[in-house]
Amino acid sequence: MKKGRMLITWYEVKQGDTQAKIAFNHKVRLEALTYENKSNPAFHSYLKPGTFLRIPTDNSYNLSEKDNGCLYEYGWRELENDRLKVGPSIHCEKIGLSVLGKPIWLFRTGTGKKKIFISAAWHGNEWLNTWLLMKFLQEWKKRLSKRKNWFGLNIEELYQNVTLFVVPLVNPDGVELVQEGIYGVNNYQQDILQINEDFKDFRHWSANASGVDLNHQWPADWHEEAASSPGRPFFRHFGGYSPLSEPETKAIHELSMKEGFSHVIALHSQGEEIYWGYQNQEPEESKELANRLAKVSSYRAVKTADSKAGYKDWFIKEFKRPGFTVETGTGQNPLPLEASKRIWITCLPLLLESITFPDFS
Ligand SMILES: [Zn+2]
Repeated sequence: MKKGRMLITWYEVKQGDTQAKIAFNHKVRLEALTYENKSNPAFHSYLKPGTFLRIPTDNSYNLSEKDNGCLYEYGWRELENDRLKVGPSIHCEKIGLSVLGKPIWLFRTGTGKKKIFISAAWHGNEWLNTWLLMKFLQEWKKRLSKRKNWFGLNIEELYQNVTLFVVPLVNPDGVELVQEGIYGVNNYQQDILQINEDFKDFRHWSANASGVDLNHQWPADWHEEAASSPGRPFFRHFGGYSPLSEPETKAIHELSMKEGFSHVIALHSQGEEIYWGYQNQEPEESKELANRLAKVSSYRAVKTADSKAGYKDWFIKEFKRPGFTVETGTGQNPLPLEASKRIWITCLPLLLESITFPDFS
């Protein structure tokens, strides 16, 4: 290729594309893609499928996830792809469907009696935690097959002692709205736009596709929580017209009742904090366990005695076993891709530490 000559190809935007994904797939810097399309009025934060973009081709920019963390938006499409590569030490099954009909996937690994449940992306703009848990599972599988230790832990031994249940994407519709805007949605477009007050930007969206906050609708002081929440579908904090009204929460509820987990960890963003209390109904050991998680992650353990209607609140109330909400990262949701590196290095030891907790079942 001759020096100084910029070759351009045209690319037609497909459903699910984002600026960062297109840049990654074409091995160009996001800045170069932005520069090349700066005069295109269709080059928005959400790209309409069918839009044509200019792609600079003389750029051989090879991004590697190893050095750069999460490289582009991780949503249900990425999960669909990655879930096919996890076997045979990790089993994948569908536990339900979202409002818009997307599968909610459960990953299960280990053969032990102690059952631990880890979940993420309850809120649309917290999808970096989905990436985190899938990376965790991929790394877990690798260490297991190579019989390698991980932070000094014998993964083979852990595999025999625990059964890990992981739902990395509780709210696939909400994540899709945040990442792709209304272009990702085929049905209910008008209803969703109305809930969002005709605003086309969804980056602030936490709820599911019905405008219900999946972490505000658990039967743990739900009525009290509802009194201070929006009384109608909204982008956040509306707990529904009744507890557990949504298909996503029903799926998690059913799983939790069936398996009777020893403890649970629900990942959220942001704040780098670990919440461990619920109306003094948590077991005595919860405080010490939260301190252990805080120590390895550098996050702060906070009791949150006044929290209500969240999943971990309900779990503590129902089972009287330890439940934790972990707020990963710092900044404003959705956290930027660059936040993923710190989330990985702080949260990985936290996840591993939690797997070594005693059995409470
Ligand atoms: Zn959250």
